[in-house]
Amino acid sequence: MQRFLVDRAALATDTVTVEGPQARQIALVLRMRAGDEVTLCDGEGAEAVCRLASVTHQRVTMQVLSRNANAAEAALRIHLYPALVRAPRLELVLQKATELGVAAITPVLCRRSVARPAAGEVPSRWRSIVREAVEQSGRGRLPELAAVVDFPTACGEATRADLALCCSEHGGEALRDLMAPPVPRTLAVITGPEGGLEEEEVAEARRHGLHAVTLGPRILRAETAAIAVCAAAYCLAGEWG
Ligand code: SAH
Repeated sequence: MQRFLVDRAALATDTVTVEGPQARQIALVLRMRAGDEVTLCDGEGAEAVCRLASVTHQRVTMQVLSRNANAAEAALRIHLYPALVRAPRLELVLQKATELGVAAITPVLCRRSVARPAAGEVPSRWRSIVREAVEQSGRGRLPELAAVVDFPTACGEATRADLALCCSEHGGEALRDLMAPPVPRTLAVITGPEGGLEEEEVAEARRHGLHAVTLGPRILRAETAAIAVCAAAYCLAGEWG
């Protein structure tokens, strides 16, 4: 069933109206008709199955048929701190990490980051990538997205998690050992940029209390490392059965 994210307030009533791009998507792209059903979710864990009552390109109204709590959220809460990398690579990380289930993403400016952070807030493009990935993957919650932080700030924040990791291509502990029971409930993980992390950055992370962790003997691209470590952590946490 098609899923759409809507405001929490919109989902609170029994007749929901969507306009703008979502109305166009329903009417023009998906060619849905009155009587068809969709799932609406509020990005905060609540969902409703709705039947379309009237459909135009500008406005779609629908009736709530049933409500339920989303059941696809991960028990392990991962806060990913991927290095700031060039836009297409970072966007891939945002999309894939969201599909996998991460709770929060904060890009990190590393010494060898080539990309420069856009001044100010979180780019709206990042938000729409994450929204689409939530809708597509069947998740119930929007991951928190934060503006780019510097490396020391990321390290300081990361150590608030039960387990804080820094993926190092220079070697480190095994993820399996660090994720051994009792499995952490919150995990923070930093991954490096295209040019890799400098050994001094890994040392700095260690001084903050993060564990340097290896992802095996092959050097992964920055975006692969960020995606792979999330997948491996969910698997080791028992999230995949
Ligand atoms: N030059 C490559 C990759 C550089 S390594 C590129 O073009 O993207 C990028 C980051 O991924 C590293 O800093 C590290 O955080 C992570 N990484 C890659 N391979 C790794 C490995 N085998 N073990 C741990 N981390 C790794």
